[in-house]
Amino acid sequence: MLTQAPKGTKDILPSEVYKWQYIEKIIAELCRNYGYKEIRLPVFEHTELFQRGVGDTTDIVQKEMYTFTDKGGRSITLRPEGTAGVVRSYIEHGMASLPQPIKLYYNITAYRYEKMQKGRYREFHQFGVEAFGSEGPGIDIEIISMLIMLFDRLGVKDIALNINSIGCPECRSKYNEALKEYLKDRLENLCETCKTRFERNPLRIIDCKEEKCKTHTVSAPALIEHLCEGCEQHFEGMKAGLDNLGIAYNVDKNIVRGLDYYTKTVFEFVSKNIGSQGTVCGGGRYDGLIEACGGKATSGIGFAIGIERLLLVMEAQGISIPETQGIDIFVATIGDKAEKYAEKLVYQLRGNGINAEKDLMKRSLKAQMKYADKLGAVYSVVLGDDEVDNNKAVLKNMTNREQREVSLDSIIEELKK
Ligand code: ATP
Ligand code: MG
Repeated sequence: MLTQAPKGTKDILPSEVYKWQYIEKIIAELCRNYGYKEIRLPVFEHTELFQRGVGDTTDIVQKEMYTFTDKGGRSITLRPEGTAGVVRSYIEHGMASLPQPIKLYYNITAYRYEKMQKGRYREFHQFGVEAFGSEGPGIDIEIISMLIMLFDRLGVKDIALNINSIGCPECRSKYNEALKEYLKDRLENLCETCKTRFERNPLRIIDCKEEKCKTHTVSAPALIEHLCEGCEQHFEGMKAGLDNLGIAYNVDKNIVRGLDYYTKTVFEFVSKNIGSQGTVCGGGRYDGLIEACGGKATSGIGFAIGIERLLLVMEAQGISIPETQGIDIFVATIGDKAEKYAEKLVYQLRGNGINAEKDLMKRSLKAQMKYADKLGAVYSVVLGDDEVDNNKAVLKNMTNREQREVSLDSIIEELKK
């Protein structure tokens, strides 16, 4: 136990962290291009926020949360997703009084007590965006196009975009009657959780992952066939906007998504490359959420993409990520005088933005050079008493083995070139 990370967690080791840094850099550029500002929020929130904000008929709240009582007797939960915290922050900081829409993004860890599988962990990473205050389909189109551009910049191919509309409370209440009518004779065959959902939120039953529930809901009536005029127009407007940008999509009437407060647009990006955990990204509009969390009625929309699953897709597609691991120069030394000199030289090199290393293990010269190779040094220089006294040394290019004499004073300028 002591030397094993908890089940469902994964260390990101120095040998693979460059992949994460690469994706984070592309995300930051993308968000800058699209005008989304980063927001950083606490890892834990009051449990109540998720019960409200995610919805207490969801799998997340009913089965997956890491909840505990802190020493002050408060019920605290590790965030299982990012939206609820961002909504809380939007309300707490009065962002409604700023020019709308408010466009935010985050890179977070999230926590869910789930059965471990490939692409399914208990601590995982999400990149998400949330946009508040805009009702029309324009913002729906914007955030979907953002994902298309992300995949494009990463070189990811063959990701299907599936969209649906689950309407507003008005269409929902009419639809719920039709759905309950359909489900009432099948209720006995559903899982225990779905039985409780029947009265409170029957739409959730469509999204249940249990096989027995799935078989009983495949032919259930779909919400998209029960949309009111306003929701129908919104959906048509969104499809027209996607067509306008040349973005391909499928309408999948079975997508309802995990949150209770989703309205109108819901969508997923799915890859066939990574097996059953193929949903890389999920998103949708949640026009009722801000009010449900105690704010003024405000529309909102967002998505979250799982970085582990994104990396799995990239790996499956053989996409290589540029590695930035090597160093610029290794300063090897013979003797104490050179060692002291090298200490200062390396300090100065680093101060000038040059990635410099020296030996710290009392290695022999031969071993130092071997180590320099292992570090992927582009240049090396060997310093002994003579070099220090004459202020001259041989700068060696480790890749093409070219050598030239340089004065030690000018070595920083040489390397900067
Ligand atoms: P799933 O249907 O796979 O359980 P979800 O609907 O619970 O997904 P969301 O809450 O929409 O997922 O989260 C958005 C994205 O976060 C998912 O599409 C996925 O890429 C990622 N994700 C969700 N849960 C996990 C997990 N346990 N481990 C790794 N990634 C996850
Ligand atoms: Mg899930």
